[in-house]
Amino acid sequence: MKKQATITAMFCDECGKRQGWLERCMGCGKEVCYDCAKSEGWVDYKSQLGFQQTGDGLFCPTCDKNPPKPVATIHALYRQLADLEVQMEREYKASRAAAESIHKRIAREWASSGFKTHVYADSDD
Ligand SMILES: [Zn+2]
Ligand SMILES: [Zn+2]
Repeated sequence: MKKQATITAMFCDECGKRQGWLERCMGCGKEVCYDCAKSEGWVDYKSQLGFQQTGDGLFCPTCDKNPPKPVATIHALYRQLADLEVQMEREYKASRAAAESIHKRIAREWASSGFKTHVYADSDD
């Protein structure tokens, strides 16, 4: 059966293609498809920060640089979190490197101490 119906369809604000799903900028409300968001360099704080609790943190490059007033505070908080995340990552790596070098040093110290750290059943001593 053929019927005429009014259907609401979504179109990307950037490429104009019809899409089933669009990304929405939390600053200006611009709606683009995944490909356009990617090629325009939209900033996705939500997945960057690895949690969902605070909802979407997606911004187009314009709003990421210059967030409009209503979301400026939220955007600043996202930025703060993103910076913290980078800092934690850096500290984690530094701590890991330090721990690894201590492990190596312990191994060297044991080796040069001549102390047998393992006793085997079939050894003579
Ligand atoms: Zn598009
Ligand atoms: Zn925007």
